[in-house]
Amino acid sequence: MAGETALITEGLEKYYGSVHALRGVDLQVERGGIVGFLGPNGAGKTTTIRCMLDLIRPHAGTIRVLGLDPQADPVAVRRRVGYLPGELNLEQNMTGEDALRYFNQLRGNRVDWGYVRQLVDRLALDLKVAIKNLSRGNKQKVGLVQALMARPELLLLDEPTSGLDPLMQQEVYRLLRGAQAGGTTVFFSSHIISEVDAIAERIAIIRGGVIVEEAAPARLIDMAMRRVRVRFKTPVDPEALNQVNGVSVLSVDDGEVRLQVEGEMDGLIKTLAGFPVFDLETEHPSLEEVFLAHYANDREES
Ligand code: ATP
Repeated sequence: MAGETALITEGLEKYYGSVHALRGVDLQVERGGIVGFLGPNGAGKTTTIRCMLDLIRPHAGTIRVLGLDPQADPVAVRRRVGYLPGELNLEQNMTGEDALRYFNQLRGNRVDWGYVRQLVDRLALDLKVAIKNLSRGNKQKVGLVQALMARPELLLLDEPTSGLDPLMQQEVYRLLRGAQAGGTTVFFSSHIISEVDAIAERIAIIRGGVIVEEAAPARLIDMAMRRVRVRFKTPVDPEALNQVNGVSVLSVDDGEVRLQVEGEMDGLIKTLAGFPVFDLETEHPSLEEVFLAHYANDREES
């Protein structure tokens, strides 16, 4: 239902000259969730997010943000969305406080300044320092506060923890979970697998301008290949195992057979029932291995 969906893109295409940056991006983010948008450098994360805010226009495809078409109603979209760009361009002579007051003005002075203070304290940000004298991480904190401060319905965050130390990264995760508890939908890009694993309820992986996976982290692991090591009481002919759908025999060493299994284990287990099995070990890949498999494909193609 449109009312329950915070973000939809269908068939999004974008060219930069001869670079085909988005090749049909299909995404759906339900309201109230935290979704990590993961992909290697140049995969199309920033381009997708910028299209959602009508900062750039796609060449094809449709977008709905909180039920609105950003091309028809960009102001309404930006009013309801908190956006952290990958690189926030701020007036260099302003202090952090000036910058936040400016963003508050843009939002019609609707921001609860007590909440801004809370955010600033939690991120240990000194608002009196001029932007030009802030470190990269502290500029990032200004960007985060401006994105969060209006308690928006939807947060679109382009690499929210970029430049932050590990303690601050953890604080940002807590802030995002807190925003979600308050009803905000969070969509954030990243190329840090552990970060996405730590907070995202669902993950969309983009590669070469196309979404290649979209699922809960545990589901991605379930779907991935797993390794199985079976020790038999007596040496066996592994050919019957090779015949099972999704199973390939990797090696046979005396009574030990190593297999790779794609998808569910049912066929293998039923076939093994006919063998004198002594021991069986299954190895799930980590989320990191699942992603790296995608990234490896990416490198092979390029
Ligand atoms: P990163 O993780 O490095 O930020 P990304 O996933 O956000 O990458 P995009 O910045 O969306 O990727 O870039 C997608 C593709 O479009 C890349 O090939 C990039 O080089 C290209 N691209 C992006 N912006 C421009 C631009 N203004 N002009 C030309 N090419 C661009």
